[in-house]
Amino acid sequence: MKQVALLGATGSIGDSTCAILRKHPDQFNLFALSAHSNWKKALQLITEFKPQHVVITDEQSYLLLKSELNDINVSIHSGSDALDELVKMTEIDLVVAAIVGSAGMSSVLAATEAGKTLLLANKESVVAAGALLMPLSLKTGAHIIPLDSEHNALYQCLPQNYQTGITPERVSHLTLTASGGPFWSKPLSEFQHITPAQAVAHPQWDMGAKISVDSATLMNKGLEVIEAHWLFNMPEHHIEVVVHPQSTIHSLVHYIDGSVLAQLGTPDMQIPISYGLGLRDRLANDGDFLDLIALSRLDFLAPDDEKFPCLTLAREAIKKGGTAPAVLNAANEISVAEFLKGNIKFMDIANINAFIMNRFDFDDVESLAQLSSTDHEVRLLTQQFIQQKFSI
Ligand code: NAD
Ligand code: MG
Repeated sequence: MKQVALLGATGSIGDSTCAILRKHPDQFNLFALSAHSNWKKALQLITEFKPQHVVITDEQSYLLLKSELNDINVSIHSGSDALDELVKMTEIDLVVAAIVGSAGMSSVLAATEAGKTLLLANKESVVAAGALLMPLSLKTGAHIIPLDSEHNALYQCLPQNYQTGITPERVSHLTLTASGGPFWSKPLSEFQHITPAQAVAHPQWDMGAKISVDSATLMNKGLEVIEAHWLFNMPEHHIEVVVHPQSTIHSLVHYIDGSVLAQLGTPDMQIPISYGLGLRDRLANDGDFLDLIALSRLDFLAPDDEKFPCLTLAREAIKKGGTAPAVLNAANEISVAEFLKGNIKFMDIANINAFIMNRFDFDDVESLAQLSSTDHEVRLLTQQFIQQKFSI
C-alpha cells in the first residue's frame, strides 16, 4: 500500500488523481492532501478519503474548514510552510505536486530534499527552480516522474531505467506536441477581441484556468520547453515544438539511428498520472481508449511565432539562463491573472512578459530564498506596470 500526499487536491490534476485513487484502494491510501481556498471541496475529500493530514494554505479558508470539521479525526494545518513540513513526513511514499504556479516551488524542493518520489505536474516550479531541483534530486535520490502529458510521454519512450535529470543516451532530440490551443487557426487581426471565456475553453483538454490561458498563448508550450530542458537535461535547440491539433501523439523521442518513439492516447490526464502512480507499471484505466479509425488522420504544423510570441520568449529565457525562466514565469503568472480578471487584453500577456524580461538582469540561481525574492519582486513590478500602462 503506497501512502500518497496530494498537493493541490482540489484542482483539475487533483480530480484526475483522486479518480485513480478511487479505482485502486488496494494499492493507494491518500495519507495527506492540500488545498488553497476551496475548503468546501477539501471537506468533501476529507470525508471521502479520510486522510490523516490536511494543509489549507489560505488562512481564512483554513479557519472556515476548521469550524466545519466537527468530530472528523484529521490533523489540519495552515500556511505554505506547513506544506514543506508535510511532504517530509516519513509515512509518505509518493508526493503528487499539483499546485498551480510558483506557489508550489518550495514544497517541490522540500519533497526532493527528503528523497521522496515526486509525481510532478506543477511545471512552474521546474521552470523557475530547475537549476536547484534537478541536481538536488540526483543528490538525494528523489525520483522525479513527470505528469505533464508531454513529458510523461517522453519518459514513457525512454528506457525503463532512465532517471530524470540525466541526458538520455543515444537520443538526438525531442519533439513536444502542442494542441495549438483554441486560436491556432484564428487570424491575428481577430486576437484583440479574445475574451477570457474563449481562452479557457480548450478544444482538447479540460484543465485549470491558468494553464488553459497558457495553452492559448502557447506560453504553456514555452514553459514545457523549459521543463523538458531541465527534466531531460537537453539543450534548448534539441527540443522541437510541433502543433498537432488532435492531441493524440503526446510527444516523441528521436534516437540517433533515426528511430522515433512516440506515446499516443486520448487527451486524458488519468493516463500519465496512472503511469506515475504505478511507478512505470500500468494501472487499468477505464476512460475512452484511442480509436484510430474514428480519428483517421493526424496533422502537424509549425508554430506561428508572430501570433504566439510567448514560445520564443521561453526559448530566450533558457538561453539567457540563471533566473531568466523564473522571471518569465512570475511575469506570466501575473499577466494571466490580470487577463482572467478582464484588466488586460489577450495579446498584452505576451507584450507584458517581454517587457518585464527586458527590464531585468538575470543572476545565477543560488537558493530558494533568492528565487522566492525574485518571484516576489517580478510580481510586484508586473502588477505596477499593468496598473500604470494597461488599464482598459
Ligand atoms: P487548478 O487551478 O485546477 O488547481 C490548482 C490547485 O492548486 C488547487 O488545488 C488549488 O487549491 C492549489 N493552489 C492554488 N493556488 C495556491 C497557492 N497559492 N498555494 C497553494 N496551493 C494553491 O490547476 P491544474 O489545472 O490542476 O494545474 C495544476 C498544475 O498542473 C499546474 O502547474 C499545471 O500547469 C499542471 N498541469 C495541469 C494539467 C491539467 O490537465 N490540468 C496538465 C499538465 C500540467
Ligand atoms: Mg502539457
